[in-house]
Amino acid sequence: MKVKTVELKGNKGVLKIEDTDVYFVNSLRRVMLAELPKLAIDNVIIYDNTSALFDELIAHRLGLIPIPTDLQTLVFRDQCKCEGKGCPNCTVRYTLSKEGDCVVYSGDLQPEHPSFAITENTIPIVELMKDQRVILEVEAVLGRGRDHAKWQMVLAPRYRMETKIQVDKKHINEVKAFVEELPKDLVELKGDKLELKDPSQKSILESYLEKHKADYISITKDPSKLLFSFETDGSMSAKAALQESINILAKKYEEFRGLLKDL
Ligand SMILES: [Zn+2]
Repeated sequence: MKVKTVELKGNKGVLKIEDTDVYFVNSLRRVMLAELPKLAIDNVIIYDNTSALFDELIAHRLGLIPIPTDLQTLVFRDQCKCEGKGCPNCTVRYTLSKEGDCVVYSGDLQPEHPSFAITENTIPIVELMKDQRVILEVEAVLGRGRDHAKWQMVLAPRYRMETKIQVDKKHINEVKAFVEELPKDLVELKGDKLELKDPSQKSILESYLEKHKADYISITKDPSKLLFSFETDGSMSAKAALQESINILAKKYEEFRGLLKDL
């Protein structure tokens, strides 16, 4: 297997994986969606809410805010020494107190410890008119995407097989005429080699091929060469999310191997 990092910065990751199989990359994708833990607000205590929104709506919006997650220091609440009561090892607390007129943003959540300050701090929660107030306290705990979507950190992890465009050299004049019909900057024709300028635009080219019945151009896919892309919601960097996902996958295989020994 060969892996090349195309992009792994901030919340975005793009990897080129060669000499692999679709099922392997897909298992990594499934781990990112369902197994990778992250912090999300799970408990909301509302002391005062005179805004236009119901308590439940505000609680729902709070649940979707990305909370910075450090998996090295946090444990799941049900596995914690505090036996589910909630302690600094398993629970991160925030307070929020604001009076109108203003907009309450995610960044208004004040953490117990500065290291948990909300990084995606401009997400609007509710707009307050004059004299309206919101005072509340929240608890964020670790969870997994398979339990609730608010604990899904990675957004739309996806892979695309590398495509090759083949041109029938005997019909090169028709190919040239077809390329003339296409939107600018979609493809590049060098001699008898046709290439997409942006590989993500493949479906656009396919729709033109179908429309023009251009059977002198064919697109083939290579399932051993994949471009894997994903983004995080901001609770963790793309690099950390990738490393943690691989650790989880490796642990699952280890567990399976261990169970086989006992058979
Ligand atoms: Zn605890």
